[in-house]
Amino acid sequence: MDKNKNEKMEAIVSLAKRRGFIYQGSEVYGGLSGTWDYGPLGVSLKRNIMNLWWKMFVEDREDMYGVDAAILMNQKVWKASGHVDTFTDPLVEDLETKQRFRADHLLKDAGHHVDGLSLDDMTKLIHDHDIKSPNGNRLSDVRTFNMMFKTTVGPVDDESSISYLRPETAQGIFTNYHNVVDSFYPDLPFGLAQQGKAFRNEISPRDFIFRSREFEQMEIEYFIDPATWETEFTKWVSLVHSWTDALGLPAESVHELEVPAADRAHYSKRTIDFEFDFPIGREELLGLAYRTDFDLGNIQREAGKNMEYTVKGTNTKFIPHVIEPSFGVERALMAVLSAAYMEDEVNGEKRVYLKLPEHLAPVKYAVSPLLKNKPELVARAREVYAILKKIHGNVMWDDNGNIGKRYRRQDEIGTPYCVVIDFDSLEDNAVTIRERDTTEQKRVSISDLA
Ligand code: ATP
Repeated sequence: MDKNKNEKMEAIVSLAKRRGFIYQGSEVYGGLSGTWDYGPLGVSLKRNIMNLWWKMFVEDREDMYGVDAAILMNQKVWKASGHVDTFTDPLVEDLETKQRFRADHLLKDAGHHVDGLSLDDMTKLIHDHDIKSPNGNRLSDVRTFNMMFKTTVGPVDDESSISYLRPETAQGIFTNYHNVVDSFYPDLPFGLAQQGKAFRNEISPRDFIFRSREFEQMEIEYFIDPATWETEFTKWVSLVHSWTDALGLPAESVHELEVPAADRAHYSKRTIDFEFDFPIGREELLGLAYRTDFDLGNIQREAGKNMEYTVKGTNTKFIPHVIEPSFGVERALMAVLSAAYMEDEVNGEKRVYLKLPEHLAPVKYAVSPLLKNKPELVARAREVYAILKKIHGNVMWDDNGNIGKRYRRQDEIGTPYCVVIDFDSLEDNAVTIRERDTTEQKRVSISDLA
């Protein structure tokens, strides 16, 4: 049963709040736009996604090195990388309310193609077609807006103390390339990986966690011999698909968008945006770019440090080129929730469940005594709970309400298995396991459970 797009998104947002996955940031004070807080189940789902990524791309590979750089970096980083001058979005203002919007989004919503348009092109389109703000008012000309959050570091508030909350994790990798090569001297190709917060002062955050002002990225800079870039790029395309498979996203909902030269960042020789069919429409899930030697070249020039790599046993030296897969945690999580959200009918009643892959589910088993006022059932159920908890960790004790209500609640949070201890369990040392997707129940002996 497929709900219409907005309804499905609303249902997911409401479930996420009701069941303790994701709350509006600073909600008690009226909220802070573009920020989201993770509740107990959300933090668990998010960590499962991040740990899966770390395992797949760092731990399971020989050629990958993890780093965790500071969020605040020397302002020179952001000048050299081009962020101070060019990390901008096109902004347009409602002339009555002074509310600000993304000009490209308004144009897209009005059915126009925006790829490759200059600010003047956008201004012309807006005025020629009399495109209004969402409040129905006239709009200003389009201008640029830098998305970095500015701050100052240290007690003196002057030019030299300016820094920014990092808008991407990538620069924390590039600035450590030299350190890791000195410590490990890996053979090419090799990669540095980082997970962490990134901040962008998005003009109009929207679509739940899809476009936030504070979010989390998982990025890899994969250093290569430039002669091999095409082969390495192709390998990363298939690795990205392994990742979306591991998230349980249906292959037919993941699309590759070859970004045309005119729309690519100036340093990129090839970019593929991987898009996903979110309930809000087909949108970017993650990006894969061939960044050439742009960043290391900038560092060499601006910091005056040699970034060349000497191929072992030779005199061959060059600045390595880079393939960059850039993953967003929130978009991965929103895709996982969107793919998992299901509605069906059980015994004539509507049921909502999250068909989460077992390895991502925040709770793997929920354990309950059939009746909570029978001490002998509770004691046996506690024993089973302790066994499972020791093995799996993410096991929940759930004795609230009747058994039907417990199943519904666990279905809604995506728990694959509910384990129930009843009076027979006291005799036959077996429990009932109820499976989320099929709602089928099986009798399993406690010793087999472990
Ligand atoms: P968009 O065009 O949607 O703004 P982008 O092309 O600017 O995204 P990148 O700079 O390529 O995004 O960032 C890499 C990844 O970081 C994106 O694919 C996405 O997963 C994530 N990301 C970027 N901006 C945001 C945001 N505001 N909120 C949540 N995730 C984001």
